Amino acid sequence: MNSSSERTLPIPPLERDAAGPVVDTRRRGLRDLRISVTDRCNFRCTYCMPKDVFGADYQFLPHAELLTFEEIVRLAKIFRDHGIEKIRLTGGEPLLRKGLETLVEMLANELPGVDLTLTTNGSALKAKARALKAAGLTRITVSLDSLDDATFKTMNAVDFPVAKVLEAIDAAAGEGLAPVKINMVVKRGVNDTHIVDMARHFKGSGNIVRFIEFMDVGATNGWKMDNVIPSAEVVRTINEAFACEPANPNYFGEVAKRWRYKDGSGEFGVISSVTEAFCGSCTRARLSSDGAIYTCLFAQQGHDLKSMLRGGKSDEEIHNAIAAIWQLREDRYSEIRTEETSRSRKVEMSFIGG
Ligand code: SAM
Repeated sequence: MNSSSERTLPIPPLERDAAGPVVDTRRRGLRDLRISVTDRCNFRCTYCMPKDVFGADYQFLPHAELLTFEEIVRLAKIFRDHGIEKIRLTGGEPLLRKGLETLVEMLANELPGVDLTLTTNGSALKAKARALKAAGLTRITVSLDSLDDATFKTMNAVDFPVAKVLEAIDAAAGEGLAPVKINMVVKRGVNDTHIVDMARHFKGSGNIVRFIEFMDVGATNGWKMDNVIPSAEVVRTINEAFACEPANPNYFGEVAKRWRYKDGSGEFGVISSVTEAFCGSCTRARLSSDGAIYTCLFAQQGHDLKSMLRGGKSDEEIHNAIAAIWQLREDRYSEIRTEETSRSRKVEMSFIGG
């Protein structure tokens, strides 16, 4: 990964008024904040943190570089004043961050009304589901790439079994975090023959699978267009087994396109960042675990807010810095992606948060 000085850009001056809702150069507002609480993960998914790059000698962030819970809450409140309606805690694996339920409770208390969600690989979820729900978590997404143990173990590269993730999903649903969303990244030649099994398993369960196109996140996952299964193909495959039809989005800018089973047994979603880019409605900012703001999942650089927090800047100064960064935002990476751009030195997803 590039060093933190290469990764960060200076805070630009504020060019327009920071009062009222902030919009970027393409008139997109700021509605969602993804917070990476750690750059570490206990899985080595081949498409995200391949073992040969994230090996035993990989330099993760030292603890002192991570934002503290107090710093995260302070920034989240400043973002809320810009119109943030939804916060997703992610990583790395967020449940590896000690005491995460305390952070959830702090955010829930300080930001009432904000939708507070979490994305996890599920490995530590069974034991934590109750505490997370009690702390004020509103919803949860669990990643699971196959129901076939051998395939899943190959994909997570740490021999983690499917059964434990399924138990975690049940535990989360049982605690009232239903419907649980289940993310399956589909990669050609790896797990694309398991799409129907996944749909069948969760059909009628109340939980919702979302099939995600394999993306060129970061700079280490060896992405090739040939490995992408377009969402249209996923829908066709499922429709051959279980008749389905499109459903209306729940809200403007929803990332997943919804499909419902015609027999009334629920729905699934597809996330088509590669074949049907949704940059035009992207209202997401990402806060890296070391406190920089990134305005795109495919960014190469971000803006360091931690120095402002630790350098004694006021909330107003940080508010204005966020406004200035957002006002200059031009990102539309998925609309201009090519094999060549896929090889650019993008910041890793585990660092800025998935
Ligand atoms: N560790 C947590 C987890 O496994 O859900 C949170 C972080 S992970 C980076 C967030 C989501 O990004 C997961 O659902 C993961 O499958 C997805 N993801 C990671 N790399 C991806 C890629 N190259 N293409 C598509 N989705 C990816």
